[in-house]
Amino acid sequence: MIEIDLLACPECGGRLVESDDAAKCTACGKRYAIVDGVLDFLTPPSHESGRDAER
Ligand SMILES: [Zn+2]
Repeated sequence: MIEIDLLACPECGGRLVESDDAAKCTACGKRYAIVDGVLDFLTPPSHESGRDAER
């Protein structure tokens, strides 16, 4: 179990939810990779070019 409920989006402070192998911000839609159960704010998921944060 990944305790991402305790974490907030560094971009906007929104709530993060688990999405596949990443954590997604429910507020701004930004995604962060989860590596070995640890949220990695420094390594964006490879689908970054999707630009779904604007939708
Ligand atoms: Zn956010």
